Amino acid sequence: MFNVILFGPPGSGKGTQSERLIAKYGLKHLSTGDLLRSEIAKQTALGLEAKKLMDKGQLVPDEVVIGMISSAIETNNQVPGFLFDGFPRTAAQAEALDKLLHLKKASIAIMLALEVGEEELVKRLMKRGETSGRSDDTNEQVIRARIAEYHAKTTSVADYYRQFNKVKMIKGEGSIDEIFDALSREIDSRL
Ligand code: AMP
Repeated sequence: MFNVILFGPPGSGKGTQSERLIAKYGLKHLSTGDLLRSEIAKQTALGLEAKKLMDKGQLVPDEVVIGMISSAIETNNQVPGFLFDGFPRTAAQAEALDKLLHLKKASIAIMLALEVGEEELVKRLMKRGETSGRSDDTNEQVIRARIAEYHAKTTSVADYYRQFNKVKMIKGEGSIDEIFDALSREIDSRL
């Protein structure tokens, strides 16, 4: 199994690049944001609770996303590998993911971290909000709260993988093709 984490702040292009990467490498895309939005669409109790936090730009509790990822890994046991997008977002989630993968005799091959400046992120997310239908993309205050949450909690995830020499920073500004090529080169070097 070949498992990749695509990492970066909201608006850094993880969704766009994920689509291309899964098409090229045949990986199963697991986005906790997408899984949560599908719970919201189905109006489950979990979705309704999560929505309150998501609407404020805050993270949902670790147990919730770890539970979702655990069942997604279980139900996809024939795939060549996973592309994790938007997960893990805390060091506790990273440790839990390592344990889940260890049970499958697997591990994370590489974390690819997209770097984009804050003003560019805000601009991209406000633009995405015009068409995405995502309530957390329409309010600048919520967008800035999500970016702040990323810096406060999520950058520790990169520190976690750095100790295993698994982090590669990628410039997330430029054309979609250029960024995709840079990501692909890193994956190819670890395949
Ligand atoms: P995303 O689509 O990845 O930008 O996620 C949208 C929102 O879902 C985030 O702002 C969080 O509220 C929540 N969320 C998604 N993934 C996670 C995660 N791994 N841990 C905690 N909250 C998450």
